[in-house]
Amino acid sequence: MVNRKNIMRLLQFRTDKHMVISFYMGIGVYKSKRKAYEIEAKDIIKSAMAEAGIGGDVKEEVEADAKRILDFLRMDFMGRARGLAIFACEPENLWQVYRLPVTVPDRCVIDHVPFVMPMLKIVDEGRRFCVVVTDKEKARIFTLYLGEMTERTDLFDVVPGWHKQGGWSQARYQRHIEDHVNRHLKHVADSLFDFYKREGFGHLIIGGPQEIRTRLYRILHSYLQRIFRGFISVEVTSSADEIAEAASKIVEETESSQSRLLTQRILEPKGQHITVKGLKETIGALEEARVHTLVLVEHELIPGSMCTKCEKIDVPGTKVCSLCGSEMQAVDDVSEYLARLAVGQDAEVSYVSNGFGLERVGGVGAILRW
Ligand SMILES: [Zn+2]
Repeated sequence: MVNRKNIMRLLQFRTDKHMVISFYMGIGVYKSKRKAYEIEAKDIIKSAMAEAGIGGDVKEEVEADAKRILDFLRMDFMGRARGLAIFACEPENLWQVYRLPVTVPDRCVIDHVPFVMPMLKIVDEGRRFCVVVTDKEKARIFTLYLGEMTERTDLFDVVPGWHKQGGWSQARYQRHIEDHVNRHLKHVADSLFDFYKREGFGHLIIGGPQEIRTRLYRILHSYLQRIFRGFISVEVTSSADEIAEAASKIVEETESSQSRLLTQRILEPKGQHITVKGLKETIGALEEARVHTLVLVEHELIPGSMCTKCEKIDVPGTKVCSLCGSEMQAVDDVSEYLARLAVGQDAEVSYVSNGFGLERVGGVGAILRW
């Protein structure tokens, strides 16, 4: 299960003597051909070994881990996920498989630490939507995450039919039905709040007949009302694709307004908020453990320097490490190191779209705790 706790464990993992294979694969292209995954995976791992210059004693270990990954793809892998992440280091007893709800670019990295960046994007709760669709008697709950719609549960309360109510007056019968509808909606509202507490999501969308969805909204817990983003006109019997399609406009609007707001908060802080922007200031804030939310521009590379000895990060062109005095090396992209530092300090990591202005100050900034 992809969650913050597991990722923290991966972030803290480090081996000096051995190597960790971090293997990512997007799934869907070869749906019916399992063999194709294996061939593809073999190639990815092979070039990662060449790139990392694996030789000597560790070569055998890495090859054994690689074989385990290929065996997994052949034997155990059912191919229902959209993406797959595997972390393997047999000598240190590390073997973790994550089936991911979203596709990831194929990639393999062999290093002394796991490569967790693509996982960080997946825990960003701000991008998880909950869609509930209800009528007078049924309800369905879905999560919508980066385009992936998953049905989570099925709630079903029966409203009594006419035939059982022989001798009742019209008025009494109506009250009886209303009691059931109220109880059903209360049950939906409670289930949603439990779900929110258990797994967390950043946004809520409600679908169903107009009168019913409004009634559900009114009895929701105030937390859920706060993250409510809009109503959609769908039926409980609509297909998951139809519901996702109806929600897509709200999702798009929410994501871009989030990107805009977050970028604005960093570039023009108001009131109590303390923020930093640009690589230099952000590194400083991370080193002082002051970051509450690290904000990165999606798909933006952040060139920098890294100490060959202590892995301190600095701005591009830095020659000598300010911590240990060792030589610094130019690196194409330091965004993953920044994200690791942040998650290691229990800070949040959020990604914003390009085009709202953060890319003009180096593609990175942060909201600080103090
Ligand atoms: Zn150093």
